Amino acid sequence: MGIVVQKFGGTSVADVEKIRNVANRVVKTVAQGNSVVVVLSAMAGVTDSLIKLAHQASKNPDGRELDSLLSTGEQTTVTLMAMMLNDMGYKACSLLGFQAEIFTNSAATKARIISIGADKILKLLRDGHIVVVAGFQGIDAGGNITTLGRGGSDTSAVAVAAAINADVCEIYTDVDGVYTTDPSICDKARKLGKISYDEMMEMASLGAKVLQIRSVEFAKKYNVPVHVRSSFSDEEGTMVLSENTGMEELVISGVTCSKGEARITFKKVPDTPGVASRIFKPIADARILVDMIIQNTRAGGQTDLTFTVSKNDYEKALAISRETGKEIGAQEVNGADNLAKVSIIGVGMKNHSGVASTMFSALAAEGINILMISTSEIRISCIVEEKYAELAVRVLHSAFGLDKDK
Ligand code: ASP
Ligand code: MG
Repeated sequence: MGIVVQKFGGTSVADVEKIRNVANRVVKTVAQGNSVVVVLSAMAGVTDSLIKLAHQASKNPDGRELDSLLSTGEQTTVTLMAMMLNDMGYKACSLLGFQAEIFTNSAATKARIISIGADKILKLLRDGHIVVVAGFQGIDAGGNITTLGRGGSDTSAVAVAAAINADVCEIYTDVDGVYTTDPSICDKARKLGKISYDEMMEMASLGAKVLQIRSVEFAKKYNVPVHVRSSFSDEEGTMVLSENTGMEELVISGVTCSKGEARITFKKVPDTPGVASRIFKPIADARILVDMIIQNTRAGGQTDLTFTVSKNDYEKALAISRETGKEIGAQEVNGADNLAKVSIIGVGMKNHSGVASTMFSALAAEGINILMISTSEIRISCIVEEKYAELAVRVLHSAFGLDKDK
């Protein structure tokens, strides 16, 4: 008995039949005595088609108009859902973002939620309604419709759950939970029962696409328990929780890999104040995101500096860097764009020694050379050649005891 927020993604509401399945599941949760708020995405592919249409209509679609257009995807699914629930004999009411009082800033296509007026939703629940809220959209102070960035319905759901103090926010999706690694790379990957907010954020920022990263930030900030589970089965999925709620005793809970990394190296640049800033200023001005940065000192007042960027930005970053190299008197600027980043993630590494050395030995045993290393409190990442990416994932998955029993 409680308040449950259930969010269904695009594949779960891809057609009328699937929307009906969702309605049945919602009704089941109501029958168990819960008050339910449903948050929906647009039908799979609809947001993409709307973006395409906008670009057919205009070379550079106006942000305000684009957001208003994109919001129609979710408008379709919530209204269909409310109709079905009504037909099934339930009181149901759809709310668009502005009706649910989801207030955002004015950053079109990537707005951030500022506040949610919980009273309206709570009153509807008290009156016995199933409330169906359009994900992905809100309204700014000027009354303009805004959207929250791709995958933003996750964030809508968690924010609504936080605002009405729901007992749980269930995210129904096309995978049945969060895995120790990508099952398509490693067939020994297993589903995690629980994962902490911080680990989930690291995984999301390293490319795991289960949850929009902002939704996890929100969940952590307001301590909303998030249950990631499949819309096509009744099986329990993965709980995303705060760290001290009885996590599994794992040192490492996930291994991730992102391909398409590139590096740029400045060789023998003068080791004087201001050099790093001269290297990175033009890169930043070109709006290129830099990931890892490593600087090592040589004898003789010179230093080498290497950084990584996404492969998509490689050519541009290299051209800019070659120019900078000439200006600051670097002996050489070179690069490579056939790299991958493999990472191990786990809050357990805060209290365990030897995690890094286990990682490096496991890679060495397979003859995989580590080109760069970076760490955070709960993550260690190594840059390796892209051709070793999958092997590295499998080796690390075994080395940290994550393989499921066969
Ligand atoms: N419909 C939006 C998208 O495709 C939001 C979402 O699905 O979460 O990105
Ligand atoms: Mg999604």
